Amino acid sequence: MNKKLYELPPLPYRLEDLEPHISREQLRIHYEIHHKAYVDGANRILQMMDKARAEGASFDVKAALKLLSFNIGGHILHTLYWHNMAPAGRAGGAPGGRIGDKIKEDFGSFDRFKNEFTEATLTVEGSGWGALTYCRNTNRLLIMQIEKHNVNIYPTIPIILVIDAFEHAYYIDYKNDRKKYLDNIWNIVNWDEVDKRFTKLT
Ligand code: MN
Repeated sequence: MNKKLYELPPLPYRLEDLEPHISREQLRIHYEIHHKAYVDGANRILQMMDKARAEGASFDVKAALKLLSFNIGGHILHTLYWHNMAPAGRAGGAPGGRIGDKIKEDFGSFDRFKNEFTEATLTVEGSGWGALTYCRNTNRLLIMQIEKHNVNIYPTIPIILVIDAFEHAYYIDYKNDRKKYLDNIWNIVNWDEVDKRFTKLT
């Protein structure tokens, strides 16, 4: 019973490095408490299932799988999110590279993309995410709204940029003003990382 489990990955910067757009305290609670809870939650279910299988015991399959997809989704999305942000000195602005060209080709302009993406993330029902994805079949960038961590995902279409729109991502800094958080987040989007993810797919 020594199977591998999920681990909370280290952040690619210090807790205070995203200030003033995301405060140290906001990032600390988000990372150390919320992200960790998804890692622990996924591992708890995996271990419960391992144990039940080893003992030949039954468990509530539907409930377990629902919780597992929520927690694994949360873990994977937060890991993408931490890495597609960077301190404002080396992030923000308009993207260059191949992703910059592709955004212009598919959306007309970066501003148009930014507005559509912001609207998508602003209007996610309840808690969720805005995501930029790339469909290899049609060679199109697609914006995706992800409800919770696991609903409305298009299978096999990979994510290249995510913005967390759970209240826990912004409430300490912006209270209930999701729009203000989204307006500020563009200052710390790490376009080099997004370009790397896109280039790897094309
Ligand atoms: Mn979150």
